Amino acid sequence: MTGLSDRTALRWGGATDVGRVRTSNQDNYLARQDKGIWAVADGMGGHNGGEIASQIACQMLGEAFAEPTVEGLVDAIEAANAAVHRAGADDPQLTGMGTTVVALAVVEHEGDEVLAIANVGDSRCYRYAAGELDQVTTDHSLVADLVREGSLSPEEAAVHPQRNIVTRVLGPQDEVRVDVFAVDPHDGDRFVLCSDGLFSEVPEPAIAAVLATTEDPEEAAHELVRLAVDGGGRDNVTVVVVDVVGDGGRAAEASAALARDGGLTAEGRPEPRPSPAYAPEADPRRRARRRTDTAELEPVVTDDGDDDLDDDEDRPPRHRKRRRVTWRVVLFTVLLLVVVGGAVATIHWYGTSAYYVGFDGDRVAIFKGRPGGVLWVDPELVERSDLERDRVPRSRVADIEAGIEQSSLSDARRYVANVTEQADELEQRRAATTTTAPPTTAPPATAPTTAPPPTTAPPG
Ligand code: MG
Repeated sequence: MTGLSDRTALRWGGATDVGRVRTSNQDNYLARQDKGIWAVADGMGGHNGGEIASQIACQMLGEAFAEPTVEGLVDAIEAANAAVHRAGADDPQLTGMGTTVVALAVVEHEGDEVLAIANVGDSRCYRYAAGELDQVTTDHSLVADLVREGSLSPEEAAVHPQRNIVTRVLGPQDEVRVDVFAVDPHDGDRFVLCSDGLFSEVPEPAIAAVLATTEDPEEAAHELVRLAVDGGGRDNVTVVVVDVVGDGGRAAEASAALARDGGLTAEGRPEPRPSPAYAPEADPRRRARRRTDTAELEPVVTDDGDDDLDDDEDRPPRHRKRRRVTWRVVLFTVLLLVVVGGAVATIHWYGTSAYYVGFDGDRVAIFKGRPGGVLWVDPELVERSDLERDRVPRSRVADIEAGIEQSSLSDARRYVANVTEQADELEQRRAATTTTAPPTTAPPATAPTTAPPPTTAPPG
């Protein structure tokens, strides 16, 4: 393909940070200016699985992006999915590892050059243009689904405890569904690819402010990462900023066309630019949802397995998508409830399945539960014994203070009886010593010089 580099000129900068809480950075990013592709990946999985998944995805994406078209980008992401999946299947410790990905590539489309933006998971692409920040991609996450459903507001989603649950990732399955958006590159546009560590710490107006004031993309990426770390840094954070610094006169052409057609808003700003259509019917491997003419950023959903839905042309596309999302959310919620319910039951069982001996005020007592409690399950007082704290043999005090666990109530009673017996014995012995041999006890401190100690050994 000729003319790719002379029509669209891009500059980029990237930064990543482990944050303040995590011990490892499971994010990765790819920047291949030579191939015209950039990406951010946010990995997940134990035993370094997250780091490995995002690293394999970035590397494979760079290698597999051979054909600069929308389909070429989707193919490369599918290759990255297959590579992560294989690596997970080959190593039992890495089974189930996965990674999000958001990628931006310069591609040829209908004889023109556009930016293809693809995502899987909740890593995002934003576009900053004409002083406004828009989210180009749609998150594949539980909270994003709930926002689309209307059961959660974007403000609630931003602080929702389950906001990091993703509904689509590369790796766990051998196939993946990729969303693609096609955007015209206009001189001055800035694109931000980022992991959720950025937008969960930095509000969008603050992201826009950095893009408005920091011209160099490398500096802007570092500044955004710094804001996320300073804002709490509860997750790894990765940012790649890609700037359009030349569009071969495209922006000027578009403005002229808009002015000619009277397409200026009251504020004098150009109306949203229609994006080029991705013609999936030309690609027999894929089917796309119908685009709406008003959409500025057109999602191109590659739906290899959903022909049944797309064949039903009578129903509006929005409705069809909504119905499927609802079904998935219901299934996901049910599974989540089962898992959470199981965890709650297990914790409750663990928290109440034992007895321990401890102190209740000044008495030794038997409790049902675990010393100190387990999460919300507090121990329960079963019975107080007659044994007072001061009578407990010194060797046992620390154990009882900490709570000494017993497997049953009768074991706990036996333990208390044992300690009581020991305390009685000690007391008897002490009483006997006091009555039979008074001179061996310490002499009264008030008369150290006058009392002759005839029965004790002479000092020295
Ligand atoms: Mg993350």
